[in-house]
Parts: sequence; C-alpha cells; structure tokens
Amino acid sequence: MLVAALVGLTAVVQGQTSIRQANSSFSNPENAEVFNPVPPVVVPGETFASPPSDATMLFNGKDLNEWVSAEDQSPAKWTISNGIMTVNKAAGDIETKRKFTSYQLHIEWRIPAAITGQGQSRGNSGVFLSGRYEIQVLDTYNNENKTYVNGMAGSIYREAIPLSNPERKPGEWNVYDIAYTDPQFNDDGTLKSPARVSVFFNGVLVQNNEAIKGSTSVNAKHVYVQHGPAPLRLQAHGDKSAPISFRNIWIRG
Ligand code: MG
Repeated sequence: MLVAALVGLTAVVQGQTSIRQANSSFSNPENAEVFNPVPPVVVPGETFASPPSDATMLFNGKDLNEWVSAEDQSPAKWTISNGIMTVNKAAGDIETKRKFTSYQLHIEWRIPAAITGQGQSRGNSGVFLSGRYEIQVLDTYNNENKTYVNGMAGSIYREAIPLSNPERKPGEWNVYDIAYTDPQFNDDGTLKSPARVSVFFNGVLVQNNEAIKGSTSVNAKHVYVQHGPAPLRLQAHGDKSAPISFRNIWIRG
C-alpha cells in the first residue's frame, strides 16, 4: 500500500516536473536560441549569376589556368573565344586542378544553334561532380530530341529523371545551379552516406536533394568506389555533333 502510494506520488511528481519543464520552455523561448557559430558574411553577387564574395572563379572567360586534361593532367586544350570556353573533342575531358568535397556550383552552358544528331549524340556533354557523378548536358529542348528520360539534360545520368524540362533552345544559354554533398565512406571503404544533389536548371528545381546511386558508368551498374576530395570534370563527348560551350563557372566549396 505504502509502496503503491509512493510509486503513485513519484509518478505525479514526475508528471508535474515534465509539465513544469514544458511550461518553462514554452514561457522561455530563448531556451531555443543559440549564438554560435555566427555565419560568415558573404557579399552576394549583383545577380544570381554573379559570384558571391567567397566564390572561386573556375573560368573567368580569359584562360584555362584552373583546368587540366582529365586524361594526363597536361594543360587543358579547349578553345576560348569571346569569354566562352568550347569543348575540343580531340582533347578530351577537362577537370579542375583544385579538388573539392561538398559545394555550390554555378555553370552556364550552350548547345550550338546549328546542332545536329539524335538522342545521346545531339549536344552531349556533362558536369561530373566529384569527377564521377554526371549531371547530363544534352539538347533535349522541348522534349523534341527523343532519348531515355534519365539521360535528358538535368538528369543524374542513367539514374534520376529531371523533375521538369526548362531547357532553352539551342543557341541560348542554360544555367545549372547545383548544391552537392559528397559521399562519406567508412574506414573499410564501404558507403556510409551517399552523395546528394539538388539542381536548379534555369532557376527551376529539377533534382531535389536526390541521393546519387553511384558512379554513372555506361553499364547499368551504379557503384561507389571510395574517394576523397576530387576535381570537377567537364565532358568532351565522342559524338559528331558540334561542341558545347561553357561560361561563368564559379564554385563555393
Ligand atoms: Mg554526357
């Protein structure tokens, strides 16, 4: 009887305590306020296309000093004209000298107005996050160029279909604004957490914090191979259509 009464009393006291705690946090909203860490000040660009003050320019329109051949690390040999870099298919993919983990990336690209070819052979390039996970570049304007939908512009290549198709017509500039979280690995090399990516395509959300399944290889398998900080890579696709151009590339890593 006494024990039961004590247990009951304890329950009542605990109940009152939790009610008091709830009331306390309710009446003291500052309990939920923190003062560290203070976000660093970043001066925004004049437009969303302009680099914020803490961004690194990866292409300034003048030279390819930030880039090398992905194949042999020799100086990048894509062409530059009028502030624009254009794929040199014979020179192959290029990649940044710098290595990155997670980042925000802004990159503008243009399919030539006189593009030819079909399917994946019509204006194919790509932006390879961590040098291996491809956000596809392709002429799929107005859905007129028929191809697999997880290979359209804005797709995570052969993985995730873009949520919509806001591509501009050939000859006009398109923009990718990408938020990328690199994958984490356990000490034994197994995957701890997948890479994730959000992509705004001409300001329209086409990938929403999508988990990447692995390297976007040409075979059907998507696999993760442990890696650390890695370059950003741009694709010189082997098709015969006219080459893609890029401009105004900046990154916040
Ligand atoms: Mg591609």
